[in-house]
Amino acid sequence: MKYLASLLFLMSAIMCKAQLFDDYFCDKTLRIDYIFSGNNRTQYITLDELSQSPGWYGRRSNLDSLMLKGNGQITVTLPESNKVIYRHSFSTLFQEWQSTEEASKTNKSFENVFIVPFPKQEVDVTVMLSDTHNKETSRFTHRVNPSDILIRHIGETGISKWKYIYKGDDPKNVIDVVIVAEGYTAEQEDSFYNDCSMAVECYHKHEPFASLKDKFNFIGVFVPSQESGVTIPGKNIWKNTALGSNFDTFYSARYLTTLRLKKLNDVLAGIPYEHIIILVNSTNYGGGGIYNSYMMSTAHHATTPAVIVHEFGHSFGGLGDEYFYDDQYEEMYPSDTEPWEPNLTTLVNFESKWKNMLPKGTKIPTKADGKDIYHKVGVYEGGGYQSKGVYRPVQECRMKINEAPEFCPVCDRAIRRLVDFYVKR
Ligand SMILES: [Zn+2]
Repeated sequence: MKYLASLLFLMSAIMCKAQLFDDYFCDKTLRIDYIFSGNNRTQYITLDELSQSPGWYGRRSNLDSLMLKGNGQITVTLPESNKVIYRHSFSTLFQEWQSTEEASKTNKSFENVFIVPFPKQEVDVTVMLSDTHNKETSRFTHRVNPSDILIRHIGETGISKWKYIYKGDDPKNVIDVVIVAEGYTAEQEDSFYNDCSMAVECYHKHEPFASLKDKFNFIGVFVPSQESGVTIPGKNIWKNTALGSNFDTFYSARYLTTLRLKKLNDVLAGIPYEHIIILVNSTNYGGGGIYNSYMMSTAHHATTPAVIVHEFGHSFGGLGDEYFYDDQYEEMYPSDTEPWEPNLTTLVNFESKWKNMLPKGTKIPTKADGKDIYHKVGVYEGGGYQSKGVYRPVQECRMKINEAPEFCPVCDRAIRRLVDFYVKR
């Protein structure tokens, strides 16, 4: 009897584990557009529009679990049982904006677009946002009926120009990364594809992407802009570009982003994509990366190869910034909360981080001694924009300075774990 019980338990454990993509989803993408709005005290999540496009290019395993918590999550459940059939985490520019001074004075709205596999039956979709204390701040659930005639069809015709820059393994077991053109005119198409090759070479030279080369497809998507270059409000330079990007995001000069997430996903409809890189035709220094949303970098600055890898660390790897200031963003990582980013700790739950990578006898915190600055793993104070109370794994990592030749061992391990999560069967 005992044997039978444990056999049944084992069988149900195996069955739970083997939630198959085909049980609940078709080979199509459901895109859900939301508007997030509010100020530094309130948040509203509202549904904007649903669309469907051919093919699903996200992960097909570990559908109901998460590697990283993010600053928000989207969850697809079955209405009768509440069973989770898909889950994904993300961060948003809206939440970043909420920590700015402007958010204490006015309300603003931001576009947010998520893609999930297209369900075979009616499902509930829940969007949840959390704050810097990892506490839930808002939640919105809506039902999706896959046969709803108002789900817009996109990506079936009129697809943007695209081509493979590098093709990894089997398309169903590989991470699809698109590289989208911003600020390139129709005549600059060749220049864009050259820049795509340059970007892919950067990843292929850089660990852990070098040894995980075949786990990624890189696809160049050429979208012509009316004007060449990009908007720089601080210099009163305004350009009409395909994705409406600009420097000076939240009044920070080097912060280059687009708020036009609907436009961005429109130009990608019908193209295999899950992760998004936007290359900007500019010689200025700047970029930005938002976890599971997109990363952006200029293509023609001396630091471009370093920035491209750093920002992908944010947008793909969910890595936090390891640099810090003395006086800014004090509230980003409160001392009572362990950050979800794998390369930062407040020591609230250090066991969940890189404790098992510390050499024997390492003191916590570890004194920075200027020796073996890229490799010697410790617990160095200063990180996540704060000089006190937040700790980083090495003295100098690619997530701290552009001069660092590589990711630290902790960032490296975090990216490898994430790739395994996405592509392992
Ligand atoms: Zn690192």
